[in-house]
Amino acid sequence: MATSSDIPNTSLPRPATLRALDFEAALGEVLHHAAGLRGSSAATIEEVPLLESAGRVLALAIAADRDQPPFDRSTRDGFAVRATEFSAGGWLRIAGQVRAGEVWSGPPLANDEAIEIMTGAPLPAGADAVAMVEHIELDGGNVRAQQGRHLMAGENVVAQGSEARAGEIVVAVGSVIGAAEIALAATAGQSTLTVSGRPSVAIVATGDELVELHETPDSRQIRNSNGYALSTLVKLAGALPYRLAIARDVREELLQRIAEARRHDLILFSGGVSMGKYDLVEEVLAELGAEFFFTGVKMQPGKPVVFGRLPERREAGETLPERYFFGLPGNPVSTQVTFHCFVEPFLRMLLGADASGPRFAQATLAHDVEGKPGLTRMLPARLDSDVRHASVKLVGWQGSGDLAANARANCYAVLPPDRTEFREGDVISILLR
Ligand code: AMP
Ligand code: MG
Repeated sequence: MATSSDIPNTSLPRPATLRALDFEAALGEVLHHAAGLRGSSAATIEEVPLLESAGRVLALAIAADRDQPPFDRSTRDGFAVRATEFSAGGWLRIAGQVRAGEVWSGPPLANDEAIEIMTGAPLPAGADAVAMVEHIELDGGNVRAQQGRHLMAGENVVAQGSEARAGEIVVAVGSVIGAAEIALAATAGQSTLTVSGRPSVAIVATGDELVELHETPDSRQIRNSNGYALSTLVKLAGALPYRLAIARDVREELLQRIAEARRHDLILFSGGVSMGKYDLVEEVLAELGAEFFFTGVKMQPGKPVVFGRLPERREAGETLPERYFFGLPGNPVSTQVTFHCFVEPFLRMLLGADASGPRFAQATLAHDVEGKPGLTRMLPARLDSDVRHASVKLVGWQGSGDLAANARANCYAVLPPDRTEFREGDVISILLR
Protein backbone atom coordinates (compact mmCIF):
# COMPACT_ATOMS: atom_id res chain seq x y z
CA MET A 1 0.00 0.00 0.00
CA ALA A 2 1.31 3.44 -0.87
CA THR A 3 1.92 5.71 2.09
CA SER A 4 0.35 9.10 1.84
CA SER A 5 3.69 10.76 1.09
CA ASP A 6 4.10 8.53 -1.97
CA ILE A 7 0.96 9.93 -3.53
CA PRO A 8 1.91 12.58 -6.09
CA ASN A 9 0.24 15.93 -5.52
CA THR A 10 -1.64 15.76 -8.80
CA SER A 11 -3.60 12.66 -7.77
CA LEU A 12 -5.31 14.32 -4.82
CA PRO A 13 -9.02 14.98 -5.26
CA ARG A 14 -10.14 18.51 -6.10
CA PRO A 15 -13.12 19.80 -4.07
CA ALA A 16 -16.33 18.22 -5.31
CA THR A 17 -18.06 21.53 -5.85
CA LEU A 18 -15.92 24.17 -7.52
CA ARG A 19 -17.84 27.37 -7.37
CA ALA A 20 -16.75 30.93 -8.13
CA LEU A 21 -19.41 33.30 -6.92
CA ASP A 22 -20.16 36.97 -7.49
CA PHE A 23 -18.97 39.12 -4.61
CA GLU A 24 -22.44 39.72 -3.18
CA ALA A 25 -23.40 36.05 -3.40
CA ALA A 26 -20.17 35.06 -1.65
CA LEU A 27 -20.73 37.55 1.13
CA GLY A 28 -24.32 36.26 1.41
CA GLU A 29 -22.98 32.72 1.91
CA VAL A 30 -20.62 33.88 4.64
CA LEU A 31 -23.29 35.85 6.47
CA HIS A 32 -25.79 33.01 6.11
CA HIS A 33 -23.45 30.51 7.77
CA ALA A 34 -22.29 33.03 10.35
CA ALA A 35 -25.92 33.73 11.26
CA GLY A 36 -26.22 30.08 12.31
CA LEU A 37 -23.38 30.69 14.79
CA ARG A 38 -24.50 34.18 15.72
CA GLY A 39 -23.55 35.03 19.24
CA SER A 40 -21.91 31.64 19.83
CA SER A 41 -19.02 33.53 21.42
CA ALA A 42 -21.47 35.28 23.69
CA ALA A 43 -22.08 31.86 25.24
CA THR A 44 -18.76 32.31 27.04
CA ILE A 45 -19.16 35.73 28.52
CA GLU A 46 -16.50 37.56 30.50
CA GLU A 47 -16.62 40.41 32.96
CA VAL A 48 -13.88 42.95 32.24
CA PRO A 49 -12.85 46.23 33.87
CA LEU A 50 -14.55 49.16 32.16
CA LEU A 51 -11.34 50.60 30.74
CA GLU A 52 -10.36 47.25 29.24
CA SER A 53 -13.67 46.83 27.44
CA ALA A 54 -13.00 49.01 24.37
CA GLY A 55 -13.43 47.01 21.16
CA ARG A 56 -15.29 44.14 22.89
CA VAL A 57 -18.93 43.28 22.22
CA LEU A 58 -21.45 43.86 24.98
CA ALA A 59 -23.10 40.64 26.25
CA LEU A 60 -25.16 42.16 29.07
CA ALA A 61 -27.01 45.41 28.41
CA ILE A 62 -26.12 48.62 30.24
CA ALA A 63 -29.14 50.14 32.01
CA ALA A 64 -29.50 53.60 33.53
CA ASP A 65 -29.28 53.28 37.33
CA ARG A 66 -31.39 56.44 37.81
CA ASP A 67 -33.26 58.96 35.72
CA GLN A 68 -31.04 60.75 33.21
CA PRO A 69 -30.78 63.62 33.79
CA PRO A 70 -31.52 62.99 37.46
CA PHE A 71 -33.22 66.44 37.76
CA ASP A 72 -34.53 69.15 35.43
CA ARG A 73 -31.16 70.42 34.21
CA SER A 74 -30.30 73.87 32.90
CA THR A 75 -28.40 73.72 29.61
CA ARG A 76 -27.33 77.38 29.79
CA ASP A 77 -25.81 79.97 32.01
CA GLY A 78 -28.53 82.54 32.62
CA PHE A 79 -31.65 83.08 34.72
CA ALA A 80 -34.31 80.58 35.80
CA VAL A 81 -37.66 82.28 35.24
CA ARG A 82 -41.29 81.71 34.38
CA ALA A 83 -41.36 81.90 30.60
CA THR A 84 -44.57 83.99 30.36
CA GLU A 85 -43.38 86.57 32.92
CA PHE A 86 -39.97 86.87 31.25
CA SER A 87 -41.52 87.18 27.78
CA ALA A 88 -43.79 89.99 29.06
CA GLY A 89 -40.62 92.09 29.33
CA GLY A 90 -40.94 93.56 32.84
CA TRP A 91 -38.13 93.72 35.41
CA LEU A 92 -37.74 90.59 37.57
CA ARG A 93 -36.06 90.68 40.98
CA ILE A 94 -32.97 88.43 41.24
CA ALA A 95 -33.75 86.23 44.27
CA GLY A 96 -30.45 84.35 44.39
CA GLN A 97 -28.14 82.00 42.56
CA VAL A 98 -27.84 78.25 41.96
CA ARG A 99 -24.68 76.59 40.62
CA ALA A 100 -24.02 73.13 39.18
CA GLY A 101 -23.82 70.75 42.14
CA GLU A 102 -26.20 72.85 44.25
CA VAL A 103 -29.96 72.72 44.81
CA TRP A 104 -31.99 75.91 45.23
CA SER A 105 -33.00 75.89 48.87
CA GLY A 106 -35.05 79.11 48.93
CA PRO A 107 -38.82 79.36 48.47
CA PRO A 108 -40.30 78.52 45.06
CA LEU A 109 -39.77 81.20 42.45
CA ALA A 110 -42.45 83.89 42.48
CA ASN A 111 -43.92 85.47 39.33
CA ASP A 112 -41.80 88.58 39.49
CA GLU A 113 -38.54 86.81 40.35
CA ALA A 114 -35.56 85.27 38.58
CA ILE A 115 -32.77 83.08 39.98
CA GLU A 116 -29.33 83.20 38.44
CA ILE A 117 -28.45 79.68 37.25
CA MET A 118 -25.41 77.95 35.78
CA THR A 119 -25.22 75.23 33.14
CA GLY A 120 -25.79 71.81 34.72
CA ALA A 121 -27.65 73.15 37.79
CA PRO A 122 -31.13 71.87 38.76
CA LEU A 123 -33.99 74.19 37.84
CA PRO A 124 -35.43 75.78 41.03
CA ALA A 125 -39.05 74.97 41.91
CA GLY A 126 -41.48 77.46 40.37
CA ALA A 127 -39.27 78.19 37.33
CA ASP A 128 -40.12 76.62 33.97
CA ALA A 129 -37.38 77.93 31.65
CA VAL A 130 -33.90 79.45 31.55
CA ALA A 131 -33.19 82.78 29.86
CA MET A 132 -29.69 82.79 28.34
CA VAL A 133 -27.30 85.32 29.80
CA GLU A 134 -26.77 86.59 26.23
CA HIS A 135 -30.49 87.50 25.97
CA ILE A 136 -31.02 89.62 29.11
CA GLU A 137 -30.47 93.12 30.49
CA LEU A 138 -29.35 93.75 34.05
CA ASP A 139 -30.03 96.70 36.30
CA GLY A 140 -28.77 96.39 39.84
CA GLY A 141 -30.58 93.44 41.39
CA ASN A 142 -33.05 93.12 38.50
CA VAL A 143 -33.11 91.36 35.16
CA ARG A 144 -35.37 91.59 32.09
CA ALA A 145 -35.58 90.26 28.54
CA GLN A 146 -33.74 92.17 25.84
CA GLN A 147 -36.15 93.93 23.50
CA GLY A 148 -38.01 91.35 21.40
CA ARG A 149 -36.71 88.26 23.29
CA HIS A 150 -39.28 85.64 24.16
CA LEU A 151 -39.03 82.36 25.98
CA MET A 152 -41.16 79.21 25.89
CA ALA A 153 -41.76 76.95 28.89
CA GLY A 154 -39.09 74.24 28.92
CA GLU A 155 -36.59 76.25 26.88
CA ASN A 156 -32.94 75.62 27.83
CA VAL A 157 -33.99 72.91 30.27
CA VAL A 158 -33.66 69.12 29.83
CA ALA A 159 -36.43 67.47 31.84
CA GLN A 160 -35.61 64.79 34.43
CA GLY A 161 -35.62 61.30 32.84
CA SER A 162 -35.98 62.62 29.29
CA GLU A 163 -32.70 61.01 28.14
CA ALA A 164 -33.35 57.73 29.98
CA ARG A 165 -35.62 56.51 32.77
CA ALA A 166 -34.15 54.59 35.71
CA GLY A 167 -33.83 50.94 34.63
CA GLU A 168 -34.07 51.72 30.92
CA ILE A 169 -31.49 50.02 28.65
CA VAL A 170 -29.10 52.62 27.26
CA VAL A 171 -26.60 50.31 25.50
CA ALA A 172 -27.97 47.13 23.94
CA VAL A 173 -26.38 43.69 23.80
CA GLY A 174 -24.27 43.40 20.64
CA SER A 175 -22.93 46.95 20.77
CA VAL A 176 -19.24 47.28 20.03
CA ILE A 177 -17.82 49.19 22.97
CA GLY A 178 -16.19 52.55 22.39
CA ALA A 179 -15.99 55.84 24.25
CA ALA A 180 -19.73 56.56 23.86
CA GLU A 181 -20.68 53.26 25.49
CA ILE A 182 -18.01 53.54 28.20
CA ALA A 183 -19.29 57.02 29.09
CA LEU A 184 -22.80 55.62 29.57
CA ALA A 185 -21.50 52.76 31.72
CA ALA A 186 -19.62 55.27 33.85
CA THR A 187 -22.78 57.42 34.11
CA ALA A 188 -24.62 54.33 35.37
CA GLY A 189 -21.87 53.62 37.91
CA GLN A 190 -20.62 50.42 36.24
CA SER A 191 -16.92 49.77 36.76
CA THR A 192 -17.03 46.48 34.84
CA LEU A 193 -18.84 45.30 31.70
CA THR A 194 -19.94 41.84 30.63
CA VAL A 195 -18.71 41.10 27.12
CA SER A 196 -18.71 38.20 24.65
CA GLY A 197 -15.83 35.75 24.92
CA ARG A 198 -13.31 36.00 22.10
CA PRO A 199 -13.41 33.26 19.45
CA SER A 200 -10.04 31.62 18.93
CA VAL A 201 -8.74 31.65 15.39
CA ALA A 202 -6.00 29.37 14.05
CA ILE A 203 -3.78 30.94 11.40
CA VAL A 204 -2.01 28.52 9.06
CA ALA A 205 0.41 30.09 6.60
CA THR A 206 1.25 27.68 3.80
CA GLY A 207 4.09 27.78 1.30
CA ASP A 208 7.46 26.15 0.61
CA GLU A 209 8.96 29.60 0.10
CA LEU A 210 8.11 30.92 3.58
CA VAL A 211 10.43 31.51 6.53
CA GLU A 212 9.68 32.86 9.98
CA LEU A 213 11.02 36.12 11.40
CA HIS A 214 13.86 34.52 13.33
CA GLU A 215 15.16 32.92 10.12
CA THR A 216 17.19 34.60 7.41
CA PRO A 217 15.56 34.18 4.01
CA ASP A 218 17.83 33.13 1.16
CA SER A 219 17.34 34.59 -2.29
CA ARG A 220 14.36 32.30 -3.06
CA GLN A 221 12.56 32.71 0.21
CA ILE A 222 10.19 35.29 1.65
CA ARG A 223 9.17 36.05 5.20
CA ASN A 224 5.77 34.96 6.46
CA SER A 225 4.24 38.43 6.71
CA ASN A 226 0.68 37.13 6.30
CA GLY A 227 0.87 35.35 9.64
CA TYR A 228 1.47 38.72 11.27
CA ALA A 229 -1.05 40.66 9.21
CA LEU A 230 -3.74 38.07 9.93
CA SER A 231 -2.94 37.95 13.65
CA THR A 232 -3.36 41.70 13.78
CA LEU A 233 -6.60 41.66 11.79
CA VAL A 234 -8.03 38.88 13.97
CA LYS A 235 -7.15 40.82 17.10
CA LEU A 236 -8.66 44.04 15.75
CA ALA A 237 -11.84 42.11 14.89
CA GLY A 238 -12.16 41.16 18.58
CA ALA A 239 -10.93 37.55 18.38
CA LEU A 240 -7.83 35.69 19.63
CA PRO A 241 -5.24 34.76 16.99
CA TYR A 242 -3.10 31.59 17.22
CA ARG A 243 -0.27 31.48 14.68
CA LEU A 244 0.57 27.87 13.95
CA ALA A 245 3.88 26.79 12.41
CA ILE A 246 4.26 27.35 8.67
CA ALA A 247 2.96 24.41 6.61
CA ARG A 248 5.02 23.37 3.60
CA ASP A 249 3.10 22.55 0.44
CA VAL A 250 3.08 18.91 1.43
CA ARG A 251 -0.01 16.89 2.23
CA GLU A 252 1.32 15.54 5.59
CA GLU A 253 2.19 18.92 6.95
CA LEU A 254 -1.16 20.35 5.98
CA LEU A 255 -2.98 17.40 7.59
CA GLN A 256 -0.94 17.87 10.74
CA ARG A 257 -1.61 21.59 10.87
CA ILE A 258 -5.34 21.11 10.24
CA ALA A 259 -5.50 18.63 13.12
CA GLU A 260 -4.05 21.31 15.38
CA ALA A 261 -6.10 24.10 13.86
CA ARG A 262 -9.47 22.45 14.33
CA ARG A 263 -9.11 22.83 18.10
CA HIS A 264 -9.87 26.50 17.46
CA ASP A 265 -13.22 28.12 16.64
CA LEU A 266 -12.21 29.12 13.12
CA ILE A 267 -9.36 28.19 10.78
CA LEU A 268 -7.65 30.64 8.41
CA PHE A 269 -5.27 29.43 5.75
CA SER A 270 -3.02 31.77 3.84
CA GLY A 271 -1.86 30.62 0.42
CA GLY A 272 -2.20 27.32 -1.36
CA VAL A 273 -5.68 27.96 -2.72
CA SER A 274 -4.83 29.02 -6.28
CA MET A 275 -4.75 26.74 -9.33
CA GLY A 276 -1.06 25.84 -9.06
CA LYS A 277 0.13 22.25 -8.87
CA TYR A 278 1.35 22.77 -5.29
CA ASP A 279 -1.74 24.60 -4.06
CA LEU A 280 -2.94 21.72 -1.93
CA VAL A 281 -5.10 23.31 0.73
CA GLU A 282 -8.44 22.61 -0.97
CA GLU A 283 -7.43 19.08 -1.93
CA VAL A 284 -6.41 18.18 1.59
CA LEU A 285 -9.56 19.72 3.03
CA ALA A 286 -11.65 17.83 0.47
CA GLU A 287 -9.91 14.63 1.51
CA LEU A 288 -11.06 15.32 5.07
CA GLY A 289 -14.64 15.56 3.84
CA ALA A 290 -14.87 19.35 3.82
CA GLU A 291 -17.89 21.02 2.30
CA PHE A 292 -17.08 24.06 0.12
CA PHE A 293 -19.50 26.97 -0.06
CA PHE A 294 -17.34 28.74 -2.58
CA THR A 295 -13.92 28.07 -4.04
CA GLY A 296 -13.48 31.44 -5.68
CA VAL A 297 -15.05 34.88 -5.86
CA LYS A 298 -15.31 37.09 -8.93
CA MET A 299 -13.24 39.82 -7.34
CA GLN A 300 -9.80 41.33 -7.68
CA PRO A 301 -7.67 41.04 -5.67
CA GLY A 302 -8.81 37.91 -3.86
CA LYS A 303 -10.22 35.69 -6.61
CA PRO A 304 -9.03 32.31 -5.23
CA VAL A 305 -10.62 32.82 -1.75
CA VAL A 306 -12.29 29.69 -0.34
CA PHE A 307 -14.94 29.24 2.34
CA GLY A 308 -16.05 25.93 3.73
CA ARG A 309 -16.65 23.64 6.68
CA LEU A 310 -14.93 20.54 7.98
CA PRO A 311 -17.36 17.92 9.25
CA GLU A 312 -17.49 16.68 12.82
CA ARG A 313 -14.80 14.05 13.37
CA ARG A 314 -14.18 11.33 15.95
CA GLU A 315 -10.53 11.06 16.80
CA ALA A 316 -8.95 8.98 19.57
CA GLY A 317 -12.25 8.65 21.42
CA GLU A 318 -12.87 12.39 21.16
CA THR A 319 -15.47 14.18 19.05
CA LEU A 320 -14.09 17.21 17.29
CA PRO A 321 -16.92 19.53 16.27
CA GLU A 322 -17.43 20.79 12.72
CA ARG A 323 -15.21 23.74 11.88
CA TYR A 324 -15.54 26.57 9.40
CA PHE A 325 -12.46 27.65 7.48
CA PHE A 326 -11.39 30.33 5.04
CA GLY A 327 -8.63 29.73 2.53
CA LEU A 328 -7.24 33.19 1.83
CA PRO A 329 -5.01 33.80 -1.19
CA GLY A 330 -1.32 34.09 -0.32
CA ASN A 331 -0.66 37.36 -2.09
CA PRO A 332 -0.56 39.74 0.87
CA VAL A 333 -2.96 42.41 -0.41
CA SER A 334 -5.43 39.69 -1.44
CA THR A 335 -5.10 38.16 2.02
CA GLN A 336 -5.98 41.42 3.73
CA VAL A 337 -8.79 42.45 1.37
CA THR A 338 -10.50 39.05 1.63
CA PHE A 339 -10.13 39.16 5.40
CA HIS A 340 -11.95 42.52 5.56
CA CYS A 341 -14.65 41.31 3.16
CA PHE A 342 -15.42 37.88 4.57
CA VAL A 343 -13.55 36.93 7.75
CA GLU A 344 -14.18 40.12 9.71
CA PRO A 345 -17.99 39.94 9.19
CA PHE A 346 -17.91 36.24 10.11
CA LEU A 347 -16.05 36.96 13.36
CA ARG A 348 -18.30 39.89 14.23
CA MET A 349 -21.32 37.60 13.85
CA LEU A 350 -19.70 35.00 16.11
CA LEU A 351 -19.18 37.73 18.67
CA GLY A 352 -22.85 38.70 18.41
CA ALA A 353 -21.98 42.23 17.25
CA ASP A 354 -24.90 44.21 15.87
CA ALA A 355 -23.05 45.71 12.88
CA SER A 356 -21.41 42.80 11.08
CA GLY A 357 -21.05 43.51 7.35
CA PRO A 358 -17.85 44.79 5.74
CA ARG A 359 -17.50 48.52 6.41
CA PHE A 360 -18.39 50.29 3.16
CA ALA A 361 -18.69 54.06 2.79
CA GLN A 362 -18.97 56.42 -0.18
CA ALA A 363 -16.51 58.87 -1.66
CA THR A 364 -16.01 60.88 -4.83
CA LEU A 365 -13.47 59.51 -7.26
CA ALA A 366 -10.59 61.97 -7.80
CA HIS A 367 -9.64 60.64 -11.28
CA ASP A 368 -10.81 58.28 -14.04
CA VAL A 369 -10.39 54.54 -13.43
CA GLU A 370 -10.99 51.47 -15.57
CA GLY A 371 -13.11 48.65 -14.23
CA LYS A 372 -12.92 45.00 -15.25
CA PRO A 373 -16.18 43.54 -16.47
CA GLY A 374 -17.34 40.64 -14.34
CA LEU A 375 -14.99 41.41 -11.43
CA THR A 376 -15.63 43.43 -8.28
CA ARG A 377 -12.33 45.29 -7.86
CA MET A 378 -11.11 46.53 -4.49
CA LEU A 379 -8.02 48.55 -5.16
CA PRO A 380 -5.70 50.14 -2.58
CA ALA A 381 -6.72 53.79 -2.35
CA ARG A 382 -6.33 56.88 -0.30
CA LEU A 383 -9.36 58.56 1.25
CA ASP A 384 -8.97 62.27 1.93
CA SER A 385 -11.86 64.06 3.54
CA ASP A 386 -12.71 67.47 4.89
CA VAL A 387 -15.89 68.87 6.37
CA ARG A 388 -17.63 68.91 2.96
CA HIS A 389 -16.05 66.24 0.76
CA ALA A 390 -14.70 62.72 0.89
CA SER A 391 -12.46 62.10 -2.09
CA VAL A 392 -10.69 58.88 -3.00
CA LYS A 393 -7.76 58.21 -5.31
CA LEU A 394 -6.01 54.96 -6.14
CA VAL A 395 -2.44 54.53 -4.97
CA GLY A 396 -0.10 53.24 -7.66
CA TRP A 397 0.61 49.53 -7.11
CA GLN A 398 2.43 46.61 -8.62
CA GLY A 399 -0.42 44.18 -7.99
CA SER A 400 -1.63 42.07 -5.11
CA GLY A 401 1.84 41.40 -3.73
CA ASP A 402 2.57 45.11 -3.20
CA LEU A 403 2.53 45.52 0.57
CA ALA A 404 4.19 48.95 0.38
CA ALA A 405 1.37 50.32 -1.80
CA ASN A 406 -1.13 48.70 0.54
CA ALA A 407 0.41 50.59 3.45
CA ARG A 408 0.26 53.89 1.53
CA ALA A 409 -3.47 53.26 1.13
CA ASN A 410 -6.00 53.78 3.91
CA CYS A 411 -8.99 52.08 2.22
CA TYR A 412 -9.92 50.13 -0.93
CA ALA A 413 -11.80 51.71 -3.83
CA VAL A 414 -14.65 49.41 -4.84
CA LEU A 415 -15.32 49.13 -8.58
CA PRO A 416 -18.44 47.05 -9.23
CA PRO A 417 -18.37 44.39 -11.97
CA ASP A 418 -20.99 45.92 -14.26
CA ARG A 419 -19.07 49.00 -15.48
CA THR A 420 -15.86 49.40 -17.39
CA GLU A 421 -15.26 53.09 -16.85
CA PHE A 422 -15.41 55.25 -13.79
CA ARG A 423 -15.03 59.00 -14.15
CA GLU A 424 -13.54 61.67 -11.95
CA GLY A 425 -16.45 62.96 -9.84
CA ASP A 426 -18.33 59.63 -9.75
CA VAL A 427 -19.44 58.61 -6.28
CA ILE A 428 -18.13 55.11 -5.56
CA SER A 429 -18.05 52.78 -2.57
CA ILE A 430 -14.92 52.34 -0.54
CA LEU A 431 -14.06 49.51 1.82
CA LEU A 432 -12.77 50.90 5.11
CA ARG A 433 -10.14 49.03 7.08
P1 AMP B 1 -0.23 31.31 -3.13
O1 AMP B 1 -1.58 31.85 -2.87
O2 AMP B 1 0.16 30.20 -2.19
O3 AMP B 1 -0.05 30.92 -4.56
O4 AMP B 1 0.80 32.48 -2.86
C1 AMP B 1 0.91 33.55 -3.74
C2 AMP B 1 2.09 34.41 -3.38
O5 AMP B 1 1.80 35.07 -2.16
C3 AMP B 1 3.36 33.65 -3.10
O6 AMP B 1 4.10 33.48 -4.26
C4 AMP B 1 4.08 34.53 -2.14
O7 AMP B 1 4.80 35.49 -2.86
C5 AMP B 1 2.98 35.22 -1.40
N1 AMP B 1 2.74 34.64 -0.09
C6 AMP B 1 2.18 33.46 0.17
N2 AMP B 1 2.11 33.23 1.48
C7 AMP B 1 2.65 34.31 2.08
C8 AMP B 1 2.86 34.70 3.44
N3 AMP B 1 2.49 33.89 4.45
N4 AMP B 1 3.42 35.88 3.69
C9 AMP B 1 3.78 36.71 2.67
N5 AMP B 1 3.60 36.39 1.39
C10 AMP B 1 3.04 35.22 1.08
MG1 MG C 1 1.70 28.92 -2.01
